[in-house]
Amino acid sequence: MIDLRSDTVTKPSKGMREAMAKAEVGDDVFGEDPTVNRLQETAADLLGKEDALFTPSGVMANQIAIRCLTEPGDEVIVERNAHILNYETAAPALISSVQLFPVDGSRGILEVEQLRAALRPSAYYMPRTSLICLENTHNMAGGSVFPIETMRSIRSFAKEAGIRIHLDGARLWNAWVASGVHPREYSAQADTVSVCFSKGLGAPVGSLVAGSREFIRRARTVRKILGGGMRQAGILAAAALYAMQHHVERLKEDHEHARMFAETLANDAGGAATCEPVETNIIIIHLTGRERSASEVVRKLRDKGVLLIMAGPRTLRAVTHMDVSRDEVLSASRLLARVIA
Ligand SMILES: *Cc1c(COP(=O)(O)O)cnc(C)c1O
Repeated sequence: MIDLRSDTVTKPSKGMREAMAKAEVGDDVFGEDPTVNRLQETAADLLGKEDALFTPSGVMANQIAIRCLTEPGDEVIVERNAHILNYETAAPALISSVQLFPVDGSRGILEVEQLRAALRPSAYYMPRTSLICLENTHNMAGGSVFPIETMRSIRSFAKEAGIRIHLDGARLWNAWVASGVHPREYSAQADTVSVCFSKGLGAPVGSLVAGSREFIRRARTVRKILGGGMRQAGILAAAALYAMQHHVERLKEDHEHARMFAETLANDAGGAATCEPVETNIIIIHLTGRERSASEVVRKLRDKGVLLIMAGPRTLRAVTHMDVSRDEVLSASRLLARVIA
């Protein structure tokens, strides 16, 4: 099977498993796991934040940030296709008692003027806007990179308005490799930032949230409330450290493979599909030909040994990652073209 459903399907490599096996561990609920501590220090430094906290998932990292940066009854501005709005159940309502205010971005990118319009005027009968969540790269917008200049202007607008910013950086690594802008630059435009090790970087489990020392102190409590206090988690942190050392630069191969997938499809599908511009490792495919149902295409492709997912009634998503080769990606694209042409 050529599995292009997500970059989360990767299996830990031999080197990663060795690093995990050798990891020094301790009880992290007591703060005594040296490998977890090293991961948190390394990531905090990379992200230019005072401190960081390892979490079991990206959802938990995002929800911890929302819980710590809002008060019950607040409103949080998100992009309409954001992961936080669409793929984290209704966690902000359940965990933080806040509501989300969706704004239509262009390829997931929000502009200052849109945020200014979405900002609630101060009135006792209105919710209080206290947080903006940005996503970089933007998953459902097709792995688009948030331009650093736009982030800077959003940051200065938010500062003036007294609003905080959380950056969902599950794929910030991909943004770094694609744009050359260092993660520290991106995360400087936000109060808190989350990153995932279990996507393109190939670790089996783990995300992290970074911010000020005071934020992380509170975040640790919220993580415990959510059941995310882990014991000898150094085994997982070792995988994350290995991933940061060995699997960031190679993301450019995934990006190249994704571009090839889209080009091949454009050549072979005879106008039966169009792809969103490919910036990183995600390809969003719109069916424009006689084959009108994405679910039908997913089924036919599965029979031919290719897995991808439906992203809408006539939209598909394919994601390249370290466990699919250039040849497999090309062959998947040709098979898709054959199914829909
Ligand atoms: C996958 C993802 C998350 C959540 O990560 P999990 O580890 O699956 O909980 C958050 N944000 C974005 C943009 C993602 O793609």
